[in-house]
Amino acid sequence: NVQTPIQANSKSLAGVKGTETERTFIAVKPDGVHRGLVHKVIERFENRGYKLVGLKAVVPSRQLTEEHYADLKSKPFFKGLVDYMSNGEAPVIAMVWEGPDVIKQGRAMIGATNPLQSAPGTIRGEYCVSVGRNAIHGSDSFESAEKEISLWFGKAGELIDWKRSGSEWVIS
Ligand code: ADP
Repeated sequence: NVQTPIQANSKSLAGVKGTETERTFIAVKPDGVHRGLVHKVIERFENRGYKLVGLKAVVPSRQLTEEHYADLKSKPFFKGLVDYMSNGEAPVIAMVWEGPDVIKQGRAMIGATNPLQSAPGTIRGEYCVSVGRNAIHGSDSFESAEKEISLWFGKAGELIDWKRSGSEWVIS
């Protein structure tokens, strides 16, 4: 079983914070999948110059979803959120993207949690109008990225370390 250098040499599946190996967990949620937004999300991250190092369609168990959203356990919308993420009517498209400042930039590209407050041009600001159907998730800190990547892509070999052709024209 060949481990990538990042998995082998550092403690973190989220790469090294503040470097070009930083990684974030991005997921198109079931509403975004139903609405055909997967390609829009991939297109934006790819066009920007970020590198896709993990991708899969998952119907998450309730347990996985509850762990992913553990911080929100006491919220009134928690049960509905877990139901809609895990009921299998559409998968979650789970991704790991890598590149400079990708955690913060990813959040900025996604837009505010409530799409009615998301700036035009952001993903939620372009495609969403409801906080309960806001299409996409992105890690909000390095610590969240570490937790979420290990939760969704914890098995060895699920993340691929590769060099994007032409990357010297994107990162210097
Ligand atoms: P974000 O997804 O922007 O990180 P949060 O972590 O605060 O935001 O919330 C997680 C998810 O919970 C949101 O993306 C949304 O799907 C759902 N959510 C948050 N607030 C509400 C709400 N008031 N009503 C329904 N769903 C909500």
